[in-house]
Amino acid sequence: MIKRNPTREVKIGAIAIGNGNPIAVQSMCATPTRDIDSTLNQLKLLEKAGADVIRIAADNKKDAQALIQIRQETDAVLSVDLQENYRLAEIIAPHVEKIRYNPGHLYHHQRSKPWQDKVSYLAEIAVKHDCAMRVGVNAGSVDPDQLAKYPKEDSISPMIDSALAHTEWLDQIGFTRYCVSLKDSDPEKTISAYLRFAEQRPEIPLHVGVTEAGMPPEGIEKTRIAFEQIIGKGIGDTVRVSLTLPHAEKHLEIDAGRQILKDISEGRVRTVVHFHRDKLNLISCPSCSRVENEAFIDLARKVKDRTKHAEDHAITIAVMGCRVNGPGETDDADLGLWCGPNYVNLKRHGEKVGAFTYDEILDRLDRELESMIN
Ligand code: SF4
Repeated sequence: MIKRNPTREVKIGAIAIGNGNPIAVQSMCATPTRDIDSTLNQLKLLEKAGADVIRIAADNKKDAQALIQIRQETDAVLSVDLQENYRLAEIIAPHVEKIRYNPGHLYHHQRSKPWQDKVSYLAEIAVKHDCAMRVGVNAGSVDPDQLAKYPKEDSISPMIDSALAHTEWLDQIGFTRYCVSLKDSDPEKTISAYLRFAEQRPEIPLHVGVTEAGMPPEGIEKTRIAFEQIIGKGIGDTVRVSLTLPHAEKHLEIDAGRQILKDISEGRVRTVVHFHRDKLNLISCPSCSRVENEAFIDLARKVKDRTKHAEDHAITIAVMGCRVNGPGETDDADLGLWCGPNYVNLKRHGEKVGAFTYDEILDRLDRELESMIN
């Protein structure tokens, strides 16, 4: 019942998005992909909750082989999340319905090769294996050439330019079976990114989400605020609510997505967008197969508990699950934590404070927070 902008239809296996099709609700397995049993368990959980598309990350050949085995056990519509190693696409594409690549990540592998060649290669594979694609732009890992064009305060324009450049290239080479996402952990920035992009390319289907929204209920609220302002304007063809959750509760991402869409369609919306700018803002990633120590989820919860006393201070704390995206994703936070197998790294206003054990980190965070408040 939500009024929708006309976008082009993109088929993803058994479903289709865009062109008035129902808004698809998706989620992602957070288990290490190479752990086939755990990933299958999570996949079944998401399937049972009614996920329209389930994303699984592949970082290396072991993950790729695991994903192929996982495919044998499910008919779910699968999307592979390609990280830096984009060439894994040729191994995985025959077994999935969608390929997600991040324009910012294409730089890390085969640096001398132009990104256009890499995108053409991915498009060729997608055509050959009947896959859709997502150009997944993420605020924490934007193409460095685009970042260099704008002052640091403007984080949205580089994201939009990156999405525009990639979509223009895809169109030019004749590949139009794709959607785009432009996610930030700040709901207001997310809103701005989607509205600006949709104004320029209204025909492109959009995957809408607030990245690293954190834990429920705040993570759901941040997402709700963004969805109301984006989807409420007719923009968006598929959604994900990115929440930090224990593996057994991952299905809550689907439940939350459906509930928010239902509320929007039935008019249960707010009118205010401002997201407590004067309050403590806790960001935490939804975790994925890159997490090397599952203590991360517990840590995120403890950070939430230990920082409650600071809720009236306009401080942003980011807790990220891995060493790969963590350093970039914590750049804009006042206090940023990212997790390795044995140590948690701590950053204050973009400067590294040090690496601390999981036992030490909370006390150290307390110290930094207190001095920041003072
Ligand atoms: S920050 Fe790392 S662990 Fe968290 S979702 Fe992103 S890639 Fe996965």
